Amino acid sequence: MPERNLSIPEYLNLLKQGNQRWKTGNSTNWLSTPADDLVEAQTPYAVIIACADSRVVPEFIFDSVLGELFVIRIAGNIVTPEVVASIEFAVDALGIKLVIVLGHQNCGAVTGKLNSVRQETPAPTPNMSQMFDQIQLAPKDQDLFEHIKANTNHQATEIFKLSSLLVEANKDEHFAVLSAYYKLDEKEVIFFP
Ligand SMILES: [Zn+2]
Repeated sequence: MPERNLSIPEYLNLLKQGNQRWKTGNSTNWLSTPADDLVEAQTPYAVIIACADSRVVPEFIFDSVLGELFVIRIAGNIVTPEVVASIEFAVDALGIKLVIVLGHQNCGAVTGKLNSVRQETPAPTPNMSQMFDQIQLAPKDQDLFEHIKANTNHQATEIFKLSSLLVEANKDEHFAVLSAYYKLDEKEVIFFP
């Protein structure tokens, strides 16, 4: 099992290099990765909170192998108490220092909320209404990218509102919560500052 003692910029580089391989059609054959040494324990180096969208698969997008990414997927990449509990586990029990909220191009959840607001129609169900409530849009009259960006950045800050453990963890300079955006058309991840 690999040691995980790189810095945040070095882990970020691993993700960026993996995305570059994915983008250029040079993905690793992750199915051939031996999993035997992962039976007893795992040492993933990043938490990725991504949308449930079928086109946004973090292990593919970052060309990662088994045991590298701790992935939480939920429509709209919203941060609920259950999602925060998973992040807390990853940080507290697994020692992960890098947390990324990953929004994406043409997100159906954000579009759904946007349509609901613009057309003044309620969400189709009470559960979806709750989901829409948690999606944050940009100020009016902006394009879909700006709304998705606003939502992704918002979710990255929500994490701290819901967790004193993560507020504490964030006092360490070797810890980071970042937001990013996956461009479906270019297969590229951009990281927001
Ligand atoms: Zn989505």
